[in-house]
Amino acid sequence: MKCSLCGKHSCHKNDLDNAPTDCPSLSMSKDYVTHAYNAEDLRIAKNAALVESIGYGKNTRVEEIMDFAQKCGYQKLGLAFCMGLHQEAKVFTKILQSNSFQVESIICKNGGFDKNAIGIAEPEKICRGGFEAMCNPVGQAAHLQQAGTDFNIILGLCVGHDTLFMKYSHAPVTVLAVKDRVLAHNPLAAIYQADAYYKRLYTFIK
Ligand code: SF4
Repeated sequence: MKCSLCGKHSCHKNDLDNAPTDCPSLSMSKDYVTHAYNAEDLRIAKNAALVESIGYGKNTRVEEIMDFAQKCGYQKLGLAFCMGLHQEAKVFTKILQSNSFQVESIICKNGGFDKNAIGIAEPEKICRGGFEAMCNPVGQAAHLQQAGTDFNIILGLCVGHDTLFMKYSHAPVTVLAVKDRVLAHNPLAAIYQADAYYKRLYTFIK
């Protein structure tokens, strides 16, 4: 599959007769959605499409998250946030609460375990020679499951920690923001500059 390199986008234009020969759409049956989406998936997909159309180009992602949660009937929301964005987490929590959502929040450093618990040696720490708390995304997911959240929101979790959170989250997940310490949590800035200031991206893995 090479959709990311496709210049035709025939799927988007209702023009599959002119799709590339290796187009994955060509192997999908007409009733694919009926078979692949269960009732909950259909409800989520429909509400996501409604959120998109109703607020298109107008609503911010914060507003879209609240609109989506309301449409899906998610009342108790879980916020899995990064210590480095605790101020943003506080503001976001107040916004959600003022819109009548119940919020359960859990920080990445929950448990207060040293990084040596996951096999990080002293020289591999950011600040060597002392306690350095590990991020505990499995704990974040477990706490939110225990709290019985309907829907979980990631705010600024690191690459890989977000992977574990999504792997273990009991409730459906969306993302308010991803972590990029260099680009003010806007990783696409590197993509937009990939042919200029960030040419090094093309040879990052030596
Ligand atoms: S599904 Fe087919 S037409 Fe659509 S982007 Fe992928 S290859 Fe191109």
